[in-house]
Amino acid sequence: MSRQISIQRGLVWFRSDLRIQDNSALYHASTRCEQLAAIFIACPETWKNHDEGDALVSFRMACLQKLQGQLQTRNIPLYFLEVPEFSLVPEALQQIIQRLKVEALFANAEYPLNELRRDNAVREKLLEHNVSVEYYSDRTLLPPGAVRAASGDPYKVFTPFKRALIQLCAGSQVKPLPTPRKIPPSTNSEHWPKWLAVDVKGNRKLTQKIPSQLLGYSLNIDGSGRVKGWESGEQAAQKRLKAFAEIIDQYQAERDFPAKDSTSRLSPYLNSGAISIRQCVKMALSQNKGLWQGGDEGIACWISELIWREFYTHLLTDFPRLSMGRPFKEETEQIPWRYDEGLFSLWASGETGVPIVDAAMRQLNETGWMHNRLRMIVASFLSKNMLIDWRWGERYFMQHLIDGDFASNNGGWQWTASTGTDAAPYFRVFNPYSQSQKFDPNGEFIRHYVPEISSLSNKEIHEPPMIEGYPQVICDVSAGRKRAIEVFANLK
Ligand SMILES: Cc1cc2nc3c(=O)[nH]c(=O)nc-3n(C[C@H](O)[C@H](O)[C@H](O)COP(=O)(O)OP(=O)(O)OC[C@H]3O[C@@H](n4cnc5c(N)ncnc54)[C@H](O)[C@@H]3O)c2cc1C
Repeated sequence: MSRQISIQRGLVWFRSDLRIQDNSALYHASTRCEQLAAIFIACPETWKNHDEGDALVSFRMACLQKLQGQLQTRNIPLYFLEVPEFSLVPEALQQIIQRLKVEALFANAEYPLNELRRDNAVREKLLEHNVSVEYYSDRTLLPPGAVRAASGDPYKVFTPFKRALIQLCAGSQVKPLPTPRKIPPSTNSEHWPKWLAVDVKGNRKLTQKIPSQLLGYSLNIDGSGRVKGWESGEQAAQKRLKAFAEIIDQYQAERDFPAKDSTSRLSPYLNSGAISIRQCVKMALSQNKGLWQGGDEGIACWISELIWREFYTHLLTDFPRLSMGRPFKEETEQIPWRYDEGLFSLWASGETGVPIVDAAMRQLNETGWMHNRLRMIVASFLSKNMLIDWRWGERYFMQHLIDGDFASNNGGWQWTASTGTDAAPYFRVFNPYSQSQKFDPNGEFIRHYVPEISSLSNKEIHEPPMIEGYPQVICDVSAGRKRAIEVFANLK
């Protein structure tokens, strides 16, 4: 590790990058600062406004606890502060930094609009006090804005974006950063106070203790740091990556079958930052002779999915309206979406009478995660067959997913509702019954989550007859499809 110590005291601000390995901000801070501490700031009111739910926030807090342990092995103390909103962060950080005599703040960039605004405000405030602020590009392979068409415009279609990104990345190795240095306690941990009072919107306390409760949230983390059965933290993420590496070659063939455990299930870790995108891509490339495309079909397909995440994240900075609840295709604002709360709540609780939709929604409600094929099926059912505003579905997903990520969730919903960039053509509406027959042929997944119809035959289980204890279908699937196509076709 090349060390060029030029800063006496630095502070790393952790957000959605809760790991110590391959963490740009932490690594660079550790090479440049003599003494180093870390901080995490919880903003529960803003998180609520962003629809971040109990599962997501519990997982984040569980990963934070694990991170604190990891940082301790490097003798880096982690502080915790709770302020209600993002808008209070600049003032809080300024006070903390002044009292701790910190010269530089290091963090990894986040790209939704409110996060960008918060970070700009922090930079302005701290620069006024001669504190340097460094934001690193870490969440994506390349920084948003770096993948451009020859015209200089951002790509709005996935395939050319993917081609260009691969061209930019393929020449250089994807190289995760080394572990940050271990700082002797005599030069570091002993030089930071255990707590500080912070005067923003009432008296707040900066401590080295991570709380088990947060205002407005019901945190549910078990004794070993699991949330809804999901093991938290960096080591769990690495274990999962290793296990997935054993089956990655079957990914393309198996990934669409929800009853099979054939996808990586790394999304909660990627989104909390317990694992980095480079670590994922490196594993895939090392198993595919360094090839981004071609070679093993399963591996190439998985890399492509990681690039969808990249694509949606890059779009956020070029099209701020995506962070404002607006569709990418502005003409779709005219769609006469329906706002039927009763029907929506039946969809949400998995009581639509369409077994694959109900099984999927119950998987989400029980485990905090939903298989990708099912996300598309339920999103299509809500936004097309039921013609309910896709933003209601987007919001419900954010409130219940353990892997909720603004960019991918917004991208996935707008893709399915045909309001987004490079979205599904509006006339292609998923038929939930044929999807069910194709991807859950024996009804194994449905039987698990909808036990009240588990005794039906493989044929009947996809579209059951009237049966006691199971709801009748709440909307006419084919009439709904026809209505959606007409509404889209009539857009000016
Ligand atoms: C309506 C809808 C909402 C979605 N909401 C989210 C969300 O909030 N958070 C989220 O991480 N993903 C979201 N996705 C994308 C995708 O469903 C999940 O990333 C995937 O199911 C996670 O499971 P996995 O980790 O096993 O994925 P794998 O199949 O193993 O893929 C590996 C990784 O690639 C990325 N990825 C895979 N598919 C996509 C995709 N279609 N778009 C963007 N990235 C992708 C994810 O980071 C994923 O962890 C959504 C998709 C749809 C259709």
